[in-house]
Amino acid sequence: MKKFKTESQRVLDLMINSIYTNKEIFLRELLSNCSDAIDKLYYKSLTDNISGLTRNDFYIEIKLDKQNRTLTISDNGIGMSASELETNLGTIAKSGSLDFKADEKLKEQDINIIGQFGVGFYSAFMVAKKVEVLSKAYGASEASVWVSNGASGYEILPATKESNGTQITLYLKENTESDNFDTYLEEYTIRNLVKKYSDYIRYPIKAEVTKYKQNEEKKQEEYKETEVLNSMTPIWKKAKSEVKKEEYDAFYKETFYDNEEPIKTIHMSVEGAVDFKALLFIPKNAPYNYYSKNYEKGLKLYTNGVMIMEKCSDLLGDHFSFVKGLVDSEVTLNISREAVQQTRQIKAIANSIEKKVKSELLDLLKNDRASYEEFFKAFGLQLKFGVYQSFGMNKELLQDLLMFYSLKEEKLITLKEYVESASGKNIYYVCGKTESAVKNLPQAENLLESGADVLLLSDDVDEFALKFIGEYDKKQFKNVTDIASESVDEAVTEEDKAVISAIKEVLGDKVTKVKGTTKLKNHAVCLSSEGEVSLEMEKVLSLNASQNQVKANKVLEVNLVHPLFAKLKNLEKSSEDFNKLCNVIYSQALLIAGLQVDNLSETVDTIFDLISK
Ligand code: ADP
Repeated sequence: MKKFKTESQRVLDLMINSIYTNKEIFLRELLSNCSDAIDKLYYKSLTDNISGLTRNDFYIEIKLDKQNRTLTISDNGIGMSASELETNLGTIAKSGSLDFKADEKLKEQDINIIGQFGVGFYSAFMVAKKVEVLSKAYGASEASVWVSNGASGYEILPATKESNGTQITLYLKENTESDNFDTYLEEYTIRNLVKKYSDYIRYPIKAEVTKYKQNEEKKQEEYKETEVLNSMTPIWKKAKSEVKKEEYDAFYKETFYDNEEPIKTIHMSVEGAVDFKALLFIPKNAPYNYYSKNYEKGLKLYTNGVMIMEKCSDLLGDHFSFVKGLVDSEVTLNISREAVQQTRQIKAIANSIEKKVKSELLDLLKNDRASYEEFFKAFGLQLKFGVYQSFGMNKELLQDLLMFYSLKEEKLITLKEYVESASGKNIYYVCGKTESAVKNLPQAENLLESGADVLLLSDDVDEFALKFIGEYDKKQFKNVTDIASESVDEAVTEEDKAVISAIKEVLGDKVTKVKGTTKLKNHAVCLSSEGEVSLEMEKVLSLNASQNQVKANKVLEVNLVHPLFAKLKNLEKSSEDFNKLCNVIYSQALLIAGLQVDNLSETVDTIFDLISK
């Protein structure tokens, strides 16, 4: 009996005692080793010009034995000699070296990471108490068997095996409360696991499966038949021209559990710094949990046809978290080999995907606007969050994908479309939930009448996103309620001025400024803001308890040609009625702007008080 090398022993211990929930990945690991072994022999046959070996002869086979509780996986690949068994399976350093420091204990989270990237042969010990590897190297006359029950070490003994290849027998562990290892003896489980992780292994994975037929007496009769469990050629490895839209759609629906077709399918094949293929989909509808914390973004990650990660979140920025799909990288992404380089490769892939998704979306916008608008209704909010959450870092990437409702055009338009038709130096917007709620806002009304366009911002995040974009095509974003604060005071008489400053005196700190204006038409007053925080932002921020101290600098605009102003003029400035009226017009202005009135019942009383005079 030989002992494992220290680091191997530690990985083994971890596997044996693993509480890791994803034990099923052992099958993927072993199948992918088989596939590698066949690749090696196939490659050898090409380079050494060996005749008699054709690609079609290669296969992998799975055998289930319920009686003996064993699972056997065999291949007719390159095989291993006794000394190869020793070096390959006796020490993990050989198998791609997990670079552990001698004094560092492996933790469960490490196995999670390892698991996502391929932990290799030793994962067999997560489900097996004993493993036998019977192998015969190609061209050799002798076979050997490697046997281990994990803990105590391993043995290598001479054995007999007819043809080249490797046969791994797993003696399954006893079932426990948390783990039912018997499940790996079920055809159903194995079939599903092969489909899930190893569907696109390029060699057939065969298994004997149970089938039923009617015999002569019209009774169900059981029989066995060998079936290939994997489909072998992944759709993303085919040329785009070879795949029909229906095939893409069907693949999307069954892989990502959506009953709607995607709004856009992107099939990429990239050669360059990192070679990879990607098949990406933009869903038609947002998943039910999309805008919640439960939603997990990410793409499936394959290397060379083998899935190594179900959801690789690093492949997608949050702003494009709606993208579904997979990446198949030609390089062997393996955490055991230079983690840093791998991160760099993943980053490179992510960058290239990001560019592609953007250009495909712009293309959709240009060529199929109806679909783009449908997309934007589902995911536009996420794009706007994307600008906001990155503090504007992503604005170049995202700003041209945004749409806002134009009050002038009465449809969704892009910022680009706004500036193309606007002559001024500003991009005007107004915040409100609906068109009817804002159309009659005096400031918006004035602008629209002058021929300018005003964007309706109806989502809470909108104005924050625009703040982070800052300017677009050298035009400044302007909230219509900010405009008043910029215009110069209108020429008012000394008498008017006195009334205005008397109003300010009554209102005190509630407003930063009171202004006279003649532009309000039939509105008596309105509220605007100056400075960074707009009235709308105050509204949104006040929903968040920790930020309800953030207030806009409010400017009360008073219509100088409105009868109400005449009334104010006539009142004694120090009288109680003047005081009451000032407070009433302020609260009305707040209401029009959609803000809370602090003391509503008191205000209502005051109004009735004044009316009944
Ligand atoms: P990795 O595959 O990452 O190198 P593993 O621990 O899975 O690490 O396997 C260790 C080595 O054992 C492999 O590199 C390979 O040389 C050898 N090996 C494993 N399974 C087989 C097999 N079915 N046929 C031939 N060689 C194998």
